Order: sequence, then structure tokens, then C-alpha cells
Amino acid sequence: MAVYDYDVVVIGSGPAGEGAAMNAAKHGRRVAIVEEQDSVGGNCTHKGTIPSKALRHAVKQIIEFNTNPMFRDIGEPRWFSFSKVLKRAEKVMSNQVMLRTNFYARNRVDVFFGRAEFENSNTIIVKETAKGDETLRTKSVVIASGSRPYCPPDIDFTHPRIYNSDTILKLSHTPRTLIIYGAGVIGSEYCSIFSGLGVKVDLIDTQDRLLSFLDGEISDALSYHLRNTAVKIRHNEEYESVIGDEHGVILNLKSGKRIRADAFLWCNGRTGNTDNMNLEASGLKANSRGQLTIDQHYKTDVENIYAVGDVIGWPSLASAALDQGRSAAADLVGADSFRYIDEVPTGIYTIPEISSLGKTEEELTAERVPYEVGQAFFKDTARAQISSQPVGMLKILFHRETLAILGIHCFGDQASEIVHIGQAIMRQEGEANTIEYFVNTTFNYPTMAEAYRVAAIAGLNRIANL
Ligand SMILES: Cc1cc2nc3c(=O)[nH]c(=O)nc-3n(C[C@H](O)[C@H](O)[C@H](O)COP(=O)(O)OP(=O)(O)OC[C@H]3O[C@@H](n4cnc5c(N)ncnc54)[C@H](O)[C@@H]3O)c2cc1C
Repeated sequence: MAVYDYDVVVIGSGPAGEGAAMNAAKHGRRVAIVEEQDSVGGNCTHKGTIPSKALRHAVKQIIEFNTNPMFRDIGEPRWFSFSKVLKRAEKVMSNQVMLRTNFYARNRVDVFFGRAEFENSNTIIVKETAKGDETLRTKSVVIASGSRPYCPPDIDFTHPRIYNSDTILKLSHTPRTLIIYGAGVIGSEYCSIFSGLGVKVDLIDTQDRLLSFLDGEISDALSYHLRNTAVKIRHNEEYESVIGDEHGVILNLKSGKRIRADAFLWCNGRTGNTDNMNLEASGLKANSRGQLTIDQHYKTDVENIYAVGDVIGWPSLASAALDQGRSAAADLVGADSFRYIDEVPTGIYTIPEISSLGKTEEELTAERVPYEVGQAFFKDTARAQISSQPVGMLKILFHRETLAILGIHCFGDQASEIVHIGQAIMRQEGEANTIEYFVNTTFNYPTMAEAYRVAAIAGLNRIANL
């Protein structure tokens, strides 16, 4: 068995592992990364963020073609199959793999394909490589093994009409009707994708409102727009059984309802990938959700082992995972750039898109913070009119006395980009983070930044006469 020596071995090549490997390599450490799949990029590239965002983009283009009257000169509205839009996503995925493969080569990070298993806290065995098992001895380990869909044992996920968010990418036809169980971020995003393809979707929510962590108005807006595309949302429901047959799937709910559809997509919960690496040999133990506990430096209970990304739980976003990986490596090499990632914007790629940062109206009310609201509707901005994207709203919550920005909530086209303007100001120290910035600054025109100016003026007007 070949034996290699490293300063750092990273398990998993998703954004968390990549961030850790690159930063450790940039600081002169000898780094290896181990990946169980046959190419780099992690579930982010192969099963999660990238395919779902590429699918959604293609679906948005189809919706634009079908609804914008200008396109009627070149043809009648058309429906595209799921497999057709998936082809587009596959192209993006392979481009991403190529790009990321080059990063490792350029930064002299050795990539081992195979499953990493602990022999002890300083030794990793790479199993099932083309060359046989290989041994990596290392000073430090970063576990960045990600997560997978949680699949309850009483549902038959081998049935050809029952999918989870990984296997849905193997769907080879377009169902006429689809049940999506779980109305979290992933369920709501797939709901937009399938309803945009003309599929009749039943969205089953186990809670009493969609994405209950969002500001109430934004969550209501999402419900309204999904219903507008014929999605049937059912709240406060729990499954009794899911039964697949030759023609479709029957979902029996504990409330007594019975729903039939051509296919069923499970989007309820995820499990950390820790059961595949002989974790006990490292001295670590995962919790019941397969997740690892870390301190504020991404260190586990074992001195030389860090953990980052989905495997540590919240916020389970690619955006945070990359930064967590970079930060863990910074801590490991003793660099000043370490930061604990505790403030992450929400980016939800439903149609319409949603993004937010900071407190919601509900939170501020419960905390008795004297706040005011400035709102702007996209339909009233020149840029949204020009781009025929009138659906949307930007809402700035600010302190009535200090004028400090307390929350930014946005839905509509490009919301996940637009939120960053507010984020940059909100992050400033002292008096620089007030809503006045948006009225005292000249922005390009026409841009969606205009929405900040409109919202800020509206908000300041509300408190002017009190
Ligand atoms: C449908 C969907 C849509 C999403 N959309 C977004 C979005 O829009 N924005 C966003 O920020 N986040 C999104 N996410 C979440 C995002 O994909 C994850 O937060 C991110 O992938 C986590 O990165 P990671 O590096 O921790 O793990 P992963 O990307 O899960 O990568 C972990 C890697 O580790 C490998 N691995 C596991 N065990 C071993 C082992 N023993 N040996 C070797 N390799 C191993 C796995 O094969 C995998 O490649 C989405 C997720 C899903 C499912």
C-alpha cells in the first residue's frame, strides 16, 4: 500500500473542502484532498446548488419566452421537457468540474479519488482507488464531507416514481403531476422549477407557513406567486404513508387526505455524511443527524481535526461552506484572516427569487425594537420595467432613532444580487450603516439600486412627521 505524508488532508471536495484545501495550500502547506465521487466539486456541483440553479435558469428563460408578447412574433408558447433543461444543467456542471479541477492542479493540491476512512486521527486510508488502498499520514484533517437527503426507512426510495433531491436529477420524463413533500428551501425551489415546466404541483408543508424564518410579507408573497402558477400548497401536514404503484404515487396524510400524482419528490431534511469514514477511529462521534460539533474555530473535540460545511449543520449553504473552509484553514495555519461565519444572507432561488439579511419585522416586534419600514416595489423602477420583471419588492427595516439598518428583505428578479448592496452598508461600523446612505449616494440609473433610494425615501418620510 502506497504511503504519503501531508500537513493537511481534506475529506470532501465540495465548497467547504475546496475552501480549506486552497487556503492551506496558499499558506505553503502540503495538502491532499480525498473525494469519493469520480470528479471534484462535491454535492454542490453534482447534486445540489449548481444543477438546481442551472435548471431554474433554463426554466426562467422558458417562462420568459412563453409569457413575453414580444416573442409571439417568432413562435407560440412551448413547453420543454425536464430532460431537455437537465441537459443544459449538465453542461454547466461539467464546466464547473473542469474549472475546479484546474484550481487543484494550479495550487499543487493532490487529489485522491476514493472513500476516506480514518485509521486514527493522523492517518486516513483512501479506499477503492484505481490503484488499491492508499495511506495518507497527516498533521491535520479537515472533514468537509457534506450531507445527503434524509430518507425515512418507511418510504421506498427504490420505487421508480419516488425521488429525493439527489435522484430527481435522473428523472428522464416530465410528469404531469408531482407531489413535493417538504416546503423548505429545496422543496420550494423545485416547486418553482416544475411548475415553471407546466407540471401541476402539490406542495406539502409540515409547517403553518412557507419558509417560516422569512419575513412574513415575503413568505406571503412567495405563497401568492406559487399559487398563481397553480401550485396547491397544503400546510401543517404530515405523511402517513407513501405508496408507489405502476401508474404513480399515492400520498396518505395523517390529516386523512389522500393525494395521487405521477411522481413524488421528498425534500424533507438532510443527514451529515459521517457514517462512511470509520469516524470512531478518529475519536469523534456524530450526533443523531450525522453532524459534528465544532467550537468557534471549526475545531472538533479532537485537537487536529476540523469540520466545516454541511457536516456541521447550520446554515448548510454553499456560500457559508466555502468561507468556513477558508477560515478553518486560516486557523490551522495561524493566519490573521480567520473569521467565524455567523452572518449569512438567505438566497432562495424560487420564482420569484428571495433574499434577505438581518432581522424580520416579526423578530423586531417581539424584541420591542422601535423600527420603521421603507419599501419599494419593482414595478415602479425603470430598470424593472425595461427588463419586463415587474414582480418584486425591496423592504428596508431601520431603527427609528438611530436610523441603523436592521434588516433587508427582497423578492423578485435578481433579489439575491440586490441584497448585497444593502449588506455592504449594513456591515459598516458606526453611523455609516444608516438608511441615509441610500439618499445621500448617487447610483447608476437605471439599476435596481434605485429601489434602495425609493425605499429609503419612503421610510424616512414615514418618520419625518412624527
Ligand atoms: C437541491 C439543492 C439546492 C441547493 N441550493 C443552494 C444554493 O442555491 N445556495 C447555497 O448556498 N447552497 C445551496 N445548497 C446547499 C449546498 O449545496 C451545500 O450547502 C453545499 O454543497 C455544502 O458544501 P460541502 O462542501 O459542505 O459539502 P458537499 O457539497 O456535500 O460535498 C461533500 C463532498 O464530500 C464527499 N465525501 C463524503 N464522504 C466522503 C468520504 N468518506 N471520503 C471522500 N469523500 C467524501 C462527497 O462525495 C461530496 O462530494 C443546495 C443544496 C441542495 C441539495
